[in-house]
Amino acid sequence: MDSKCCELLAEKYETRWGQLEMSNRNSMGIVKLNNGICMPKEGYGVFQIKDLDICERCVLDAMDAGYRLFDTAAAYLNEEAVGRAIQKSISAGMIKREELFITTKIWIQDYGTQNTRRAFRESMERLGLSYLDLLLLHQPFGNWQEAWRTLESLYLEGKVRAIGVSNFTISKLGELLTQAKIKPMINQIELHPFYLQEEALAQMRRFQIQPEAWGPLCEGQKGIFTNPLLRSIGEKYGKTAAQVSLRWNIQRGVVVIPKSVHRDRMVENIDVWNFTLSQQDMLAIAALDVGCSEIIDFESPATERLLLRWKLHE
Ligand code: NDP
Repeated sequence: MDSKCCELLAEKYETRWGQLEMSNRNSMGIVKLNNGICMPKEGYGVFQIKDLDICERCVLDAMDAGYRLFDTAAAYLNEEAVGRAIQKSISAGMIKREELFITTKIWIQDYGTQNTRRAFRESMERLGLSYLDLLLLHQPFGNWQEAWRTLESLYLEGKVRAIGVSNFTISKLGELLTQAKIKPMINQIELHPFYLQEEALAQMRRFQIQPEAWGPLCEGQKGIFTNPLLRSIGEKYGKTAAQVSLRWNIQRGVVVIPKSVHRDRMVENIDVWNFTLSQQDMLAIAALDVGCSEIIDFESPATERLLLRWKLHE
């Protein structure tokens, strides 16, 4: 499919998204990516939900709670469960395919022209989808250059509506930008009140690459849910520390994809569209920054060695 066809496809989707936005289903914000595609500003992530039945139930619960963006990856080993939930909800008339925004990611082991194509095909089979909304390179290691060229081809063929990367540091994203024929639409990186990554965000802003936060709740670490500052700010708005953390990222232009296996927390995490943090609160939260990740260091050769060793299949 040539780029003109891709534009036509994008227009078709935009019309549907436009209608959805007008119907204001859950008053959740929508962001326009650099190729004109619309994406919900909040979604639901399924990392570490390994049990397929639990994962399927969680995705159905999350849809019911109002989430429309779902973030999985070949490496999470639960694409099949996400796919089952999508098929069930569509068959039950709960949702239409075009209302959903589905993301998956290619693992390092599958980087390379033929490998990436095969991995994409297998992900699509597990998800039971005929097109994907967003395809990401999961990590900036291995032969990501060749894998990126394959993502560009899949995009031009109309198989994916948007392509992007994940965990690309400033230097890796810079390197990609010097080679890419198509600019990534997304970079999904760790972003939460303890790790701001302001310089990375500035770079993405400059190149119109949408930042998306993984671990927006710091994976539940560093006492985020009982942090005195986040709690006291929350009290002013009748919100929890989790809601304040998510809203803070949203207000600085970041898409968030919190994960919870608990229905009440899913509802809590999406109930962030009826308040606005003041500039003063935004600045106070930013002062929580510790300036580095305490989860994983993408600049470290040890991280690269560890992730290169992680195999999904023979
Ligand atoms: P999150 O920051 O979303 O935190 C999830 C943790 O917080 C879980 O332990 C969850 O527990 C708990 N939690 C969630 N909501 C609440 C709440 N309201 N109150 C109290 N506890 C809560 O971490 P994730 O790592 O899951 O990040 C989100 C998503 O980002 C992932 O699911 C995945 O899709 C993506 N991701 C991408 C990565 C990448 O390399 N590209 C890396 C990591 C994540 P419980 O489930 O028990 O409620």
